[in-house]
Amino acid sequence: MTSPKRLLLVEIHDARPAEAETIDRLRSLAAETGAGRPALLVTPEWGGARASRRALARLVTPSDTPVLHGLTHDAPPSAFERLLYGDAMGSEFARLGRQEARERIRRGRLLLGEATGRRVEWWCAPRWREPRHVRGLLAELGFEGTLGRRALLLSSGQTHAAPVLSFDHGTRHIVVAANRLVRRLRLGPLLRSARIVRVALHPRDATSPSTVAEVRNLLAALTSGGFVPVDLATIAGGA
Ligand SMILES: [Zn+2]
Repeated sequence: MTSPKRLLLVEIHDARPAEAETIDRLRSLAAETGAGRPALLVTPEWGGARASRRALARLVTPSDTPVLHGLTHDAPPSAFERLLYGDAMGSEFARLGRQEARERIRRGRLLLGEATGRRVEWWCAPRWREPRHVRGLLAELGFEGTLGRRALLLSSGQTHAAPVLSFDHGTRHIVVAANRLVRRLRLGPLLRSARIVRVALHPRDATSPSTVAEVRNLLAALTSGGFVPVDLATIAGGA
């Protein structure tokens, strides 16, 4: 069998037990197009509150690839983010020193790994923001790689260009509308020339009928454009 030329990865971000039902809805939305092996980005101590082991275990299904998505997804409020997005977007790792970053990654991985019995080999920084030293740390800790904003960055040093389409840009209508327009403009070039496209879904997306409709249309456009839904391991394996 020849491997597909164009790959689609669905990512479900900000997974935590308090949003378990919403995460299920996002999973079903992705599965409608056959993209049923999503990367599930889990934050084990969302907002600083530790989730129970059982609740974390229930959150991750066998078809998900667990990805550690920070420890708390919390950060001191930034005036810029509040102004632009109407929300503190929780760039937990943006300003962390090496020691603190290492401790949080180690702790988060332990909690998620122990709860699920799965090896946690992938990392994505909250809001994709992290200092350079985090990549070295992940390689030291034996992670396969990072889901960056524009690429999958493997600890081996290999990089797969993999732009991400995301729908959650806070609560300010003008910013949300501007980003919807940007997505529409990006779709044509991606359909023409991208090899890998990632679609990032967030819990807030499931609460907006217009976003749900947009996600459906986008996934349909990608799959009819020849993109085949795959899991992270398939991309990392150089498909
Ligand atoms: Zn996030």
